[in-house]
Amino acid sequence: MSYEKEKQVAIDAAIAAAKLCQQVRQSIPAAIEKSDKSPVTVADYGSQALICKAVSDAFGDDPIVAEEDAATLSQPDMKEPLDRVVEYAKELRSDATPENIIAWIDRGNGTVSDRYWTLDPIDGTKGFLRQDQYAVALALVEGGEIKVGVLACPALPMATGEVGTLFVAVRGEGAYQAPLSGGDLQPIRVASMDDTESLRFVESVESGHGDQSRQAAIAQAVGITAPSLRMDSQAKYGAVASGQALLYLRLPSPKSPDYREKIWDHAAGVIVVEEAGGKVTDMYGKPLDFSKGAKMVDNQGVVVSNGTIHQKAIDALAG
Ligand code: AMP
Ligand code: MG
Repeated sequence: MSYEKEKQVAIDAAIAAAKLCQQVRQSIPAAIEKSDKSPVTVADYGSQALICKAVSDAFGDDPIVAEEDAATLSQPDMKEPLDRVVEYAKELRSDATPENIIAWIDRGNGTVSDRYWTLDPIDGTKGFLRQDQYAVALALVEGGEIKVGVLACPALPMATGEVGTLFVAVRGEGAYQAPLSGGDLQPIRVASMDDTESLRFVESVESGHGDQSRQAAIAQAVGITAPSLRMDSQAKYGAVASGQALLYLRLPSPKSPDYREKIWDHAAGVIVVEEAGGKVTDMYGKPLDFSKGAKMVDNQGVVVSNGTIHQKAIDALAG
């Protein structure tokens, strides 16, 4: 089965959503607080609306499991932010109206099934607000296997220095990157262990999203002595896939030891790394399970590597 149409729809939708996000970020974006106290912005909502609409138009019946919903934005006191989402979306789609935006966002309230899309409209919202890294992350999962993944990283520089990187992977077809502004997709590969430039590991900027002291200890155990590269969002998967780092460690934070990772925070990044020749498991060496629901209830922690050092990291975690 070919996923050519899925790939193209995902690329076009992610590029449009990334444009909207960059527009919003030109002014200092304001954070809106969700019921779980985490931040969201008009860009998260605009990105989700555009992508859900594009996926729905192309693949009407496919469920979309996305991070946001329109509950907060539909409140009567949210008219102003809703109008701003409409304004930004209108620059890319003339049919953006308040009613449509709410409906498009809520198209993302689907459930995990045999075939579904998963979307993080802005992964790393905290990085987005800090003017740091963030990603628009969209993936297609079928029969529990990720088939297509697209990561748009508007603030991530390419090797050429141009800022804005697009990562694309289709199962069995390799991983690619291109400037987000356009241009040919070029194949990418993970780094090898003797490539000293890449002897680094990546981890989250947010100390509450990992266990930085244990992450440093595990990196050292596999032979990485350089300080970590700290980055928000699934841009970290892009760093491993393109050979900028050997390892990405995300171990449960001592502040939230029972935290379970969300599918939209990983699916697109996982296939990009796997198709670039790398490996992704939980901290016990088990594959991430994308078939159980929005939360990966049977997995804890995430280890992403170039492949060759993977077992060493898992052994160090067990020891
Ligand atoms: P990052 O940019 O790598 O820090 O990842 C951002 C993602 O971390 C957000 O999309 C959240 O879904 C997720 N997150 C929130 N709380 C936690 C936690 N306690 N442990 C790990 N990830 C979390
Ligand atoms: Mg996220």
